Amino acid sequence: MEAGAEASAAPPKIGQPGVIASVTGHGTARGIPEAHHLSLQMDDGSVLETRMPTPQGVKISGGLLPVNVEYFNFGECPICLVPSPSSREHVPPHCIGGNVRTLTCERCNNEFGSRFEPHLQTWYERSLGRVRISGGDVRGRRNGGQYLYRETLTGEYVLFQTGRSDPNFDRMVQGGRIEITVPEFNEKAFRLAALKTGYVAACLIMKEVPRTERATAIRAELVAARDRDRGEDYELSALARSIQVSRTAADPVPGEIALAEMTEADGSTFFAVSFNRVFAVDWPLDPIFIREAGAPDPARTQS
Ligand SMILES: [Zn+2]
Repeated sequence: MEAGAEASAAPPKIGQPGVIASVTGHGTARGIPEAHHLSLQMDDGSVLETRMPTPQGVKISGGLLPVNVEYFNFGECPICLVPSPSSREHVPPHCIGGNVRTLTCERCNNEFGSRFEPHLQTWYERSLGRVRISGGDVRGRRNGGQYLYRETLTGEYVLFQTGRSDPNFDRMVQGGRIEITVPEFNEKAFRLAALKTGYVAACLIMKEVPRTERATAIRAELVAARDRDRGEDYELSALARSIQVSRTAADPVPGEIALAEMTEADGSTFFAVSFNRVFAVDWPLDPIFIREAGAPDPARTQS
């Protein structure tokens, strides 16, 4: 990994040389985003501290409720309901540090793992994805590797290059001016992957695969996505679009699945399933109710 372009009001400094002084990332523990915290010793003697970008949007506060999400075999694939599934299913996906929590069928496991979950990973890592670059006296657009979007402690953005890139990359960058072509983020695939992991986690929390109308609709949407021809255009249902994915500003807790009670700015509350304490998916199933501490137990108050 090397320091890439840094920009704010000042013109971007490309390929500024520096040495990684310390890094917290998935080399530290699986499930922590790559380069979550990274400090660079720059050649001019300064130290550049970077971190995951602060989440933008409407602030919601959440309290985590302890839930025990242990390995549980439903005896059927929780997504398509085929009996006796045999594929070890990571919740959340393995690529973002999930552990094996249940079994799904091979088809659901493979299709979601290859078609949708990489887009959840891109989002999780705050990556721009695999970029193409052009510049200098090298012809054409070449593989520029992957770019991670991070920020300095004062909010300026920094791009870190990671992964394999074209052998001419250094020559292209030395020209001082490069053009980066960023792939379009696949929002629908990201949402389907988040819905799937939120749905399976919710089933695990309930230790059942519910047969309600809502659960049936979610499964139908996931199975349709699984079976669709690659490249075929589609729209997400209103239900799938209503299930939001939130990102937290907290430090990651790899492997943690928790139920979060969220409070919106207007005081309304809803539940979400939190993963690695990095992101949360709105509770996708029918509403669940938890008796508030101190509330009367109806069975006891009846005389
Ligand atoms: Zn299945």
